[in-house]
Amino acid sequence: RSNVGKSSLINRLTGQTGLAKVSATPGHTKTLNFYLINKDWHLVDLPGYGFAQKNLAARERFEEMIIDYLEQRESLIRVFVLIDSRLPMQKLDRDFVQWLIGADIDFALVFTKVDKTKPAILRETRRQFEALFQQLGLSASPMFETSSETGAGKLEILRFIGAEVASVESDEDESEEGGTEVTATP
Ligand code: GDP
Repeated sequence: RSNVGKSSLINRLTGQTGLAKVSATPGHTKTLNFYLINKDWHLVDLPGYGFAQKNLAARERFEEMIIDYLEQRESLIRVFVLIDSRLPMQKLDRDFVQWLIGADIDFALVFTKVDKTKPAILRETRRQFEALFQQLGLSASPMFETSSETGAGKLEILRFIGAEVASVESDEDESEEGGTEVTATP
């Protein structure tokens, strides 16, 4: 979602101000941006969904590109869905999460701007998402609470990514031992 705090969070996670463009214009990021974090993993910055786009055909083409990416990218390990923690569950976010669950794509929720949120409000929003997961038959999904102002949540996310990358690498080692060659696409 535009203005959710995605660019600020990417800058926080990578520790590099200016790496992701922090935009004052909602919906600025309209391409897929790849960041090589280290030799083990990439962060891919996908555009926010639901941005105002006058040309419906262009918008549909564009959404199709994102859907293709999410459904077909074999090296994709985890989608982080950014949610503005100040708002109750929004229809756009709910629809996207529902689509991810239906497509069997692993994701985590990242609640942004927690420095601006009352804890009771965030608790209620988390509860709304948990109820949605239950309704759709998903037992659980990781959730992170972050602030790009205070740095809250940064270490938790980086540790989580590190653990996931390590677990994929050990799976690959095992399959290599079994004689299957694993080819990584750049
Ligand atoms: P994007 O459009 O999702 O990439 O969002 P940006 O990173 O450009 O941020 C949108 C606005 O929210 C900017 O004015 C940021 O300064 C502000 N913002 C982003 N993250 C935080 C946060 O964690 N706390 C607060 N208080 N403001 C934030």
